[in-house]
Amino acid sequence: MTAINITEWEKAAHAVYAAESILIVTHIDPDGDAIGSLLGLMNGLKSLGKRVVGAVDAGVPALFHFLPGADEIQPKLERGEWDLMISTDASDEKRTGLVGDYGRAHSRAVINLDHHATNILFGYVYLVDSTACSAAEVVLRWFEQMELPLTREIAMPILTGIVTDTMGFRTSSVTAQTLEYAKTLMSAGASLTEITARVLDNRNFQTISLWKRALATTELHEGGIISSVITQADFTEVGTTEQSDQGLVGFLIKVEEAMMSVVFKELPDSKVNISMRAKPGFDVSQVAFGLGGGGHQQAAGATVEGELLAVKAQVIALLQEAVKHGKLTIV
Ligand code: AMP
Ligand code: MN
Ligand code: MN
Repeated sequence: MTAINITEWEKAAHAVYAAESILIVTHIDPDGDAIGSLLGLMNGLKSLGKRVVGAVDAGVPALFHFLPGADEIQPKLERGEWDLMISTDASDEKRTGLVGDYGRAHSRAVINLDHHATNILFGYVYLVDSTACSAAEVVLRWFEQMELPLTREIAMPILTGIVTDTMGFRTSSVTAQTLEYAKTLMSAGASLTEITARVLDNRNFQTISLWKRALATTELHEGGIISSVITQADFTEVGTTEQSDQGLVGFLIKVEEAMMSVVFKELPDSKVNISMRAKPGFDVSQVAFGLGGGGHQQAAGATVEGELLAVKAQVIALLQEAVKHGKLTIV
């Protein structure tokens, strides 16, 4: 996948200055970067005196409720019109769910802010840089261009996006400049200790109970592909309302013998969510893109129609083919 770097900072700033009302949306099943970049944008653009609404289907996951402004995010949009919509951390329109559909139909223009190499360049203004470690980093760079003063309310969510998408400054997307950004955000009042403790290290017993069931299905396939399966029955049995693997796929990629990890999650309506991770030197984004999803070399995903075990067999075969094109770069 070739890199994309189309950052129309000034055009985007002018779109903001000209707007009175702004809607911000992000991707469904939001992670720390989705929520962090959304809240960073929301709190920052509010400080410019704009009327800002943030929305994501099903609302903010409990893990991120500690972030400033999280309680204002709307889980649904049924009324309203905006001068401008900003889509963050989403590589295509479908990924922004129902609030994205509503927003596009009721906004005059769309800014596409993202860092996925699989971004399909939808929208009217682009702030898309696939070399950025996170969408949150793109938000920070834009605010620096606009000379917008950083407060704790702006810095906390942005640092959360950077910390989660880099798995705590550990991915190959981290550069000396990333650490400079973290320094700037900490100087503005963001607590790295609080963010890492809450979003990276904290797991409740329900999650461990879910992992216990999922780990019972774990297999190491030929070629170095490790997989686990989570069914609707698992979610029901454990009693979770959020249908997330809670980071299991990231745990599986730690296995020495595995070059790629994959978690298959059974969804209602005969759909299957596929979440994949790769060791440095391997690429799961192509497989995800081929399945109608997207992501990055080392972390990607897709949702497809089909029966759980049939989808599993098909995707394992695709990963076994993809793994042949890679080579472990860090042992
Ligand atoms: P996940 O495995 O859900 O944590 O997602 C890993 C990465 O893949 C994230 O950067 C997502 O943005 C991306 N991703 C996951 N699912 C999709 C999808 N259906 N479409 C596009 N990108 C996706
Ligand atoms: Mn994301
Ligand atoms: Mn991201």
